[in-house]
Amino acid sequence: MNTTEMNESKNQARVPVLAEELVEQAQAAALKQTADYAPGEREELIARIKSLLLKQDAVLVAHYYTSPELQQLAEETGGFVADSLEMARFGNEHPATTLIVAGVRFMGETAKILNPEKRVLMPDPAATCSLDLECPVDAFSQFCDEHPDHTVVVYANTSAEVKARADWVVTSGIALPIVEYLAGQKQRVLWAPDKHLGSYVQKSTGVEMLIWQGSCVIHERFTADGIKNLKLKYPGAAVLVHPESPAEVIEVADVVGSTTALINASKTMDVQEFIVATEPGIFYKMKQASPGKIFLEAPTGGISATCESCMRCPWMAMNGLRNLAEVLENVNNEIFVEEDIRRKALIPLQRMMDFAKKRPSLKVKGNA
Ligand code: SF4
Repeated sequence: MNTTEMNESKNQARVPVLAEELVEQAQAAALKQTADYAPGEREELIARIKSLLLKQDAVLVAHYYTSPELQQLAEETGGFVADSLEMARFGNEHPATTLIVAGVRFMGETAKILNPEKRVLMPDPAATCSLDLECPVDAFSQFCDEHPDHTVVVYANTSAEVKARADWVVTSGIALPIVEYLAGQKQRVLWAPDKHLGSYVQKSTGVEMLIWQGSCVIHERFTADGIKNLKLKYPGAAVLVHPESPAEVIEVADVVGSTTALINASKTMDVQEFIVATEPGIFYKMKQASPGKIFLEAPTGGISATCESCMRCPWMAMNGLRNLAEVLENVNNEIFVEEDIRRKALIPLQRMMDFAKKRPSLKVKGNA
């Protein structure tokens, strides 16, 4: 066993095993949102949401992985569809006093960290992320304490408390140059929480890192064999892969990149068919940008290689028109971040944004 393997195996022991019940609970909650509408219900909900957004001085910001109808509604009502950091930034620039964040919990927290004076509401604050769940702050802090000579770099998909413990926050779009920069400063890097993204960064930069062993329940399911088989049917298709996917899936990619990078690639590549290994909510923006192109879901190792529920993020799917209308009606599900934590978490977030500003060719866009 080399040093990296020893560290990974030691570190693996402290990563909590994600209970299948949590995924099942999220799927059950999501079903309430996706259950068939009664006649006229969908139209009534959309009309009510539009009117309540005005009444509550609120703007809807939705993540690329939410349902097409939420993304469309965000756009139709002057809101925004993006990754988590761009969602928070848009919220900062928009005059509305209330931000409705359709996404998962860490996105609501990031919006609050960057916009403390605004009210941040979520359709369901229990919507979370396996990367966040697999990186509890106590175990993670202990890991950091054991390696005080390392600079702590965490991915955006983490709780506010974990961000507060970090030196840098990164998105998938900016992780490579930040890690290269830190290595150039002779700093040793401790990375969390996604092991696949961490390995990808390590391999691409050649920088040895201590890597926390979390993973995304969705991206981890894509298989290289499944993609190769689909390529036999669609030999001209380009393969677009998010780097939260396993290494063997990344190896068969034509383009590896953040959500924003994959959307851009689908737009600019002179290719008509794409096999896409990321959450299929992203197809809304891809199809919007390139209506004539064909987008295929990369197969997973699930029971059915093409079943939608294998690929839909169960937590993202907890956002729907029904609970969006409710949260606007009742003005509940507000996201709070304790001020001390917020101030500490803002430091590594700001460091990333300042880093990007000094390098105009870089964008911080691109977390899950
Ligand atoms: S798709 Fe994966 S990384 Fe994104 S929110 Fe869902 S579990 Fe987290």
